[in-house]
Amino acid sequence: MRQKIAAGNWKMNNTLEESVALAQALVDAGSPSGVLTILGVPYVYLDKINQIVAGAENIEVAAQNAHQELSGAFTGEISVKMLNSIGVKYVILGHSERREYFGETDELLLAKTNTVLGAGQIPIFCCGEPLAIRKAGTHITYVIDQLKNSIFKLSAEDFSKIIIAYEPIWAIGTGETASPAQAQEMHEEIRKAIAEVFGNEIAEGTSILYGGSVNAANAKDLFSNKDVDGGLVGGASLKADVFVQVMNGF
Ligand code: PEP
Repeated sequence: MRQKIAAGNWKMNNTLEESVALAQALVDAGSPSGVLTILGVPYVYLDKINQIVAGAENIEVAAQNAHQELSGAFTGEISVKMLNSIGVKYVILGHSERREYFGETDELLLAKTNTVLGAGQIPIFCCGEPLAIRKAGTHITYVIDQLKNSIFKLSAEDFSKIIIAYEPIWAIGTGETASPAQAQEMHEEIRKAIAEVFGNEIAEGTSILYGGSVNAANAKDLFSNKDVDGGLVGGASLKADVFVQVMNGF
């Protein structure tokens, strides 16, 4: 059985007070049985929020990025060692906003993935196509190429630790969601590609999350697809009552 995951990506939102209230409400609601809840928290609140979720079963925090080097003169950056020192076990890598606004390439993301894995942390590795590529009908090749140029270069042992998030860029923060059939199609193709590179056992064990305007109303339809193992959720993860419904969408 693959791990079912409801992951939130808080991005650059909320004050400390709001973040604490949100995390506490999720802890009070509890992660549904068999579901791992992961909260993608801004760096400055990670330590605090990690302490709040520490007592809850199956609720973890994730950083939204990490630097590829372990330490050094990189003003404003955060290392995996720093994250380890406050007990962070998950790191979101390759979000389309990082790729687009911060120039993160497949090559850089492979380096970051290696660093995160080397620190014993689990990457939630994002991939996904822009609208023009979807319209051109080349979305499957585009996404598989993103993986071939990055995490498909890992050893099988390392790859088997990774969580993948398929996030079509045209569906992120737009209110436009991929249909359950569109999500299932891409997830199935990703799983097939993993099987070709790493074998069936690893492909069947890899959790592949869908991201792109997941909300309380559509989570169930998306998560009920056989290759969709949960969601990476932006906007709808900022309201406790809404995200609790997403967590219960399996
Ligand atoms: C995201 O940022 O990963 C995301 C999927 O955002 P939203 O749910 O708001 O579309």
